[in-house]
Order: sequence, then structure tokens, then C-alpha cells
Amino acid sequence: MKVAVAKGDGIGPEIMEAVLNIFNANGVPLEYEYVDMGKWVFDKGYSNGMTPAAQQAIETYGILFKGPMETPKGKGVKSVNVTARKTWNTYANKRVFQTLHGVDTVFSKAGIPIDITIVRENIEDTYGGIEHMLTHDVSLSRRFITRPGSMQVIRYAFEMAKKKEAKRITCGHKANIMKLTDGLFLECFYEVAKEYPELKADDIIVDDLAMKLVVRPNEFDVVVLTNLQGDIISDLCAGLVGGLGFAPSANIGDHISIFEAVHGTAPDIAGRNIANPTALLLSGLAMLRHIGLMENAATIENALLYTLESGVHTGDFGNKQTPSLNTTQFAAAIISNFGKTPQNGAKPLLANSIVTPTLFQPDHNAMMESKETELERIQGADFFIESNEQPADIARKCLRHAGLKFKLINISNRGTQVWPTGSIYTNLVNQYNVRFETVDENALSQHDISGLYVSLIGDFKICSLELLLMLGNKRAYSLAQGQ
Ligand code: NAD
Repeated sequence: MKVAVAKGDGIGPEIMEAVLNIFNANGVPLEYEYVDMGKWVFDKGYSNGMTPAAQQAIETYGILFKGPMETPKGKGVKSVNVTARKTWNTYANKRVFQTLHGVDTVFSKAGIPIDITIVRENIEDTYGGIEHMLTHDVSLSRRFITRPGSMQVIRYAFEMAKKKEAKRITCGHKANIMKLTDGLFLECFYEVAKEYPELKADDIIVDDLAMKLVVRPNEFDVVVLTNLQGDIISDLCAGLVGGLGFAPSANIGDHISIFEAVHGTAPDIAGRNIANPTALLLSGLAMLRHIGLMENAATIENALLYTLESGVHTGDFGNKQTPSLNTTQFAAAIISNFGKTPQNGAKPLLANSIVTPTLFQPDHNAMMESKETELERIQGADFFIESNEQPADIARKCLRHAGLKFKLINISNRGTQVWPTGSIYTNLVNQYNVRFETVDENALSQHDISGLYVSLIGDFKICSLELLLMLGNKRAYSLAQGQ
């Protein structure tokens, strides 16, 4: 079986060589096709950071094993790491954080074992990177949380939790504040939970989760989160088990999956052969298990655990009184420990049974759409306008444009209502949201909204516009703070 390998930038080539040496020494039955991705590919003029041949190879084999890659600064290009995850719809980012004997942490010293799997949604959220300056003072990032996207990652998390016989699956969120976006994610979580009655499913507000993970990490098992919150929480978990050098990551999609370490290119130590290859090795082991190479994965994992237990370390961790090994020597130590049994060995020791990725050549992009069950109608619109006037002056102008179909409901600034009621102590920026709704219960048309738009531009620069929808009898937009 063939997989695509991108060595990456910075320490990437050094740690990739170490890991593939370990795989080869263990007789892992894989062939590697090296593909061109990363900083030097950007520098050659490929704006997405990969060559067409690299894309072709990855789409042919369905598996990419990659080293960390640098995003050139100040060139306006997007991260190739994020592009790869999004292009191939690797919707679930799975990161396993386990106590490793020999890697001292506050918790290992206290005898508290950690085994947490974070599943982070990998496509949506603010990682869409859809950002605009609305005025010279005001920037906006769009945060998409979708029902099909949430269902995909949550379903994966439940299925994975069931397979690993997890005791608990928890949804981390901020639905108390972001009622529609995080609220939708949470709603999907409990919808999927109904199909898995054997799993204890619960939820926790993400700030509380951060605190509890630091105080009682052993209470958590599988945690599923939206993209940005998952990113932050997974680095927190890396800290619990010894740092980024021990944090692996698997980006799972239905057809293509990407395996990489959580850490970056470590430019400060690149080229010195001193980087710790453990995180990339653990990511590689996740890849071996993903394709069914269970026996190879278990033997290599046991050798790694035995090596760590015996106090062997690279410079970034371990006992400073004992000399550290370089990357090559560390890999050789693991190889020399094949067949040894650590205290808490890898389980289960299953035989290999290769699963090839389900690849097919689609002739169109898959449209993921859930069934619409509620009648949708336009109740009004939010017009985001640029103005440095006082709220009452804006209201006076807006009321002139309301006409027969619209009423001006309120005006808010940075989400806080400043008209018809508000506080003189609310600081303002030069961008307001003026909210108009229908005068009666009759639905508005897009023509009604565009008529109001044309009228308003007589007085204001409109930076952005959102429709206010009713879905059935549910309000599908948030109220302003203080409304
Ligand atoms: P980093 O993870 O590269 O480094 C942070 C610190 O951890 C550094 O001190 C580094 O020496 C150390 N470190 C990281 N990995 C190590 C290892 N294996 N062994 C020993 N020490 C290690 O983070 P950064 O400096 O913020 O980012 C550097 C570059 O990496 C940036 O261009 C960033 O965009 C990129 N990056 C890429 C990925 C990816 O490819 N998935 C992820 C994160 C950052």
C-alpha cells in the first residue's frame, strides 16, 4: 500500500526521516511517495502551497503523512496545513493525550493518569478565515457553524468513542453566549447522542472545561468541540501530558485522511538534529492503525513506551542530569527496543488487517444538506452602517426610510443596544447595526429589503447586510445585548 509523504519545513525532514527509519526497521508494509508541499512550494509560486502533482498523489492514495509546514508571513497566502484539511474535507481532528511513563508532568508525579481524546471540528468556525474590514476601525470575522458539518464530526466522535469503549463523551461549547452557532453544535450533539444510549453523553461550557481539565483531567474521556475552542483546548491537553513534543493529530475524512504532529516547524532548533520525533511518531502510529496495521503499530508503540520509561530522552524533556540523545539516536534507541514490554503496553495487540481508504472519483462536489422541516420567512434585516454620529441622530435618519412596510426596531453598537434605550456610558465605534422588521406579521420579500437598502444608502455607507429569518415560529437571529 502506498501513502503520500510530505516532509515539511524546519524540523520536518529530520523528524520524518527518524519516523520512517523506525517504520522501515519494523518492516511496516508501506511504500512512500514524497510530495511537494510547504514553504518552498509557496516560494516557487504555487499560491496554495502544494504542487498539482502533490494534490494528484494525495487524492490517489487517500493518506497523507506530513511534517509541519511553515506559512510564509506577510505574503497574504493561506496556511497549507489548513488548506489541506479543508480541501479534502478532513472534518474531524482527533488528538489523543495520554500519560507517557518517563515523561514527567505534575499529574504523572501525583499518580493521576490521563487519557483524553479531543475531537475538534476541522473545517468550519472562524477557521473559514472569512474576514473583512467594515470601516477603517472595524473588522469582522464570519463564524460558520453548520448542521451537516457538525453532524459529520459529532457522529465520528461518537463512533470512535464507542469503538474505544469510552465511558463518557462530552461536548465543550459556549452555547450560553453564542446561542445560534454553538447552540446548533450542541443540538446536533444531543441528536446524535440518542443513537448511542450506551455512552454517557454530557456537555460543559468551554471555560469551565479548561478549568476542570487542569484540576481533574482524569474525569474526561472523549471531548468534542468546535474548531477554535478545540484548537485551544487540545494545546491545553498537550501541556497536561508533557508538551507539544507528545501531541499527535489525525485529520480524518471520509476519503482522505492526514496525519501530522500538533507542533510546528520549530525554526529555533531546525537543522540541528535535536528535535523530538515522538509526536510525529505517535501520529504515524495513528495512521498505521487507521489503515489496519495494528501489529506494527503496537510493536512500535511498545518500543517507544519502553524507551521513554527507561529514561531515554531528547533535549526538550526528561531528566536534565542524564545526557540527551539527538533525533537519530532517539530513533535508533526505539528500534533497539522492538519486542520489549513497557509497564503499560499498547493494547489491544491485534493482527494486521489492511483497510484501504474508500476512494472514488466523484464527478461533482458533494452537497451536504439536511431536510428543511420549518417554513422560512423574512422578518426584517440588520443593516451594518458606518457612522460616527450619536444613536438618536442615526435613528432620526433611519425612521425617515422605514416607509410603510418597515419599523425601526433598535440600533446597536458592537452588539449592545444604544437606541431606543441604552446607556450614555456605552462606548461607541464607527459602525452600527440598525435593525428593521416588518410592521405586521406579513413576510417580507428580498425586493422589500433591497428597496430599503437603496433608500438607506442615501444617508449611510452600508457595510454589510443580514436577513432576519423566522424558521417556523422560531426567531433565527440573536437579540442585541439589552434589547
Ligand atoms: P512550534 O510548535 O514550531 O514551536 C514552539 C516551541 O516548541 C519552539 O520552542 C520549538 O523549538 C518547540 N518544539 C516544537 N516541536 C518540537 C519538537 N518536535 N521537539 C522539540 N521541540 C519542539 O510553533 P511556532 O514557533 O509557533 O511555529 C513555527 C512555524 O510552524 C510557523 O510558521 C507556524 O505557522 C508553523 N506551524 C505549523 C503547524 C503544522 O504544520 N501543522 C502547526 C503549528 C505551527
